[in-house]
Amino acid sequence: MLSDLPDHATMHAALLARDPRWEGRAYVCVATTGIFCRLTCPARKPLPENCSFHATVADCLEAGFRPCKRCRPLDREGAGPAVAELMAALEADPGRRWTERDLIAAGHDPSTLRRAFRRHFGMTFLEMARLRRLREGFAALEQGGKVISAQHEAGFESASAFRAAFARLLGRAPSDLRQGQLLLASWIATPLGDMIAVASASHLHLLEFVGRKALPAELRQLEREACGPIGLGRTGPLEQAAAELARYFAGEARGSG
Ligand SMILES: [Zn+2]
Repeated sequence: MLSDLPDHATMHAALLARDPRWEGRAYVCVATTGIFCRLTCPARKPLPENCSFHATVADCLEAGFRPCKRCRPLDREGAGPAVAELMAALEADPGRRWTERDLIAAGHDPSTLRRAFRRHFGMTFLEMARLRRLREGFAALEQGGKVISAQHEAGFESASAFRAAFARLLGRAPSDLRQGQLLLASWIATPLGDMIAVASASHLHLLEFVGRKALPAELRQLEREACGPIGLGRTGPLEQAAAELARYFAGEARGSG
């Protein structure tokens, strides 16, 4: 993801100043400790050469850094009550087809909301709600369901809308993913966003955020290496990855991560 953050010196000055204007918009990854922080973290500030700056927590995690236990960059109180309210509404009714009109009717300003969600999750609420529905459909396919019932499960208005949303994400139609292949893909939900994992019976080959532009190309690359198509389902390594992610985030919630 291209970062639109200012240059390194500007960001390091903001870090030294513990500038609160960067809350939710920038994080610092510290090479010497392997952790990442909010710029406002009370901890002693690292030297500039050990810092790299990212716009989202997802980018920091993908770069291999762990969240700081003092400033707890995964906590989202800073996102505001509107974000928390909608996240709760989404969890309560994941199959609901949200529109901008629903948001306005609930008293939200759509453009403020768009900014808040982009800042914290890298996507708008409507995009997130659509992804959530796609996850339901993917889960139905994983369990061996037909595309038509998966589409129904996911609350998509038509089979073609479901296929199009699926193809945009994974670069292929849902019917191209069959069960019983050597490499199997599975959808894993995490508090930071949904991920796709691909594993064989013995190894995890890919763990990637669903919104990543590179995901379809990565899937094709895996298929070339494995000399066969990717199917759907869960193998031992996939179950293990899902369990480890769940433990990791549960630990974060307790503050012991
Ligand atoms: Zn910190």
